Amino acid sequence: MSMTLYNTLKTFLVNNNKSVETPEGVCPNCWGRQEYQGKFFEAVKREGIDTQNITEKKGWIQAYAEQHLSGIELSKSEPINTCVSCGLKYVDEK
Ligand SMILES: [Zn+2]
Repeated sequence: MSMTLYNTLKTFLVNNNKSVETPEGVCPNCWGRQEYQGKFFEAVKREGIDTQNITEKKGWIQAYAEQHLSGIELSKSEPINTCVSCGLKYVDEK
């Protein structure tokens, strides 16, 4: 389990706004298809996580990421990142 996914989810949670639809490093196609946006925020709400206690809840977030997102994490080989789950390729625009 990479620290990356935790940091990614944390950033995603803290910057919760409509402009970012998919956490960085996660396959947008799979994230969207599995409706993780809704599921993730629902789970977070149920767990009582907010920006104030997010660091205390690190373990929970890591476990969630491990369970649900490690399979759709993009494997980085710049400039093209491939989703191991659906096989879609994304070109790094940086
Ligand atoms: Zn995918």
